[in-house]
Amino acid sequence: MQPGEKIGPILQILEQRYGEAHVTLDFANPLELLVATVLSAQCTDVKVNQVTPGVFKKYPTAAAYAAAPLKELEAAFHPTGFFRQKAKSIQGICRALEENYGGEVPASLEELVKLPGIGRKTANVILGNAFGIPGITVDTHLGRISQRLGLTTSKDPVKIEFDLMPLVPPDRWTKFSHQMIWHGRQICTAKKPQCPLCPLLPYCDYGQDATQGGH
Ligand code: SF4
Repeated sequence: MQPGEKIGPILQILEQRYGEAHVTLDFANPLELLVATVLSAQCTDVKVNQVTPGVFKKYPTAAAYAAAPLKELEAAFHPTGFFRQKAKSIQGICRALEENYGGEVPASLEELVKLPGIGRKTANVILGNAFGIPGITVDTHLGRISQRLGLTTSKDPVKIEFDLMPLVPPDRWTKFSHQMIWHGRQICTAKKPQCPLCPLLPYCDYGQDATQGGH
């Protein structure tokens, strides 16, 4: 089945199964989501959510991160791992916000990706969830499942995003991203996809192959 033929039923099944899917990072404004997203690299959202209440209280503005001693930020981010890199990155982003955007997080993809270390994935997370502007977030789950379903043949996240954009209606982009991520965590895991239990099996190239003994 061609991607254009199966995307309708796939979206319907995802909606039935993961109607409540949402971003699992806690935040109250765009800056908090930006910081939480950077901290979530190589770390679980649960762990990030344990750390961020204290961090957000201590650093309520971009100016606060920009002015903080690096060592202090490193200590605050320590439980999330890769804390030196994350401290440097968040301070660099916040200094750029201070210098170029009056300390505010910009609400456009073009501006967000100009911030140091911010790629399209993070930019789309922020746009979709903090500003309500649709975006497809190609993380490891969404990329893997899109390939398995046969919605893309690409491995490059940006190409995958552009393959999916004409298939998925824009008003579903953000929700679709969460639903695919939840599906990747619950059923279509990297190492052991549960194809026989998967509601997307009838529309999945990999799953059809796997259940017929191909994998
Ligand atoms: Fe993933 Fe298997 Fe479901 Fe396809 S059928 S989406 S590979 S779990």
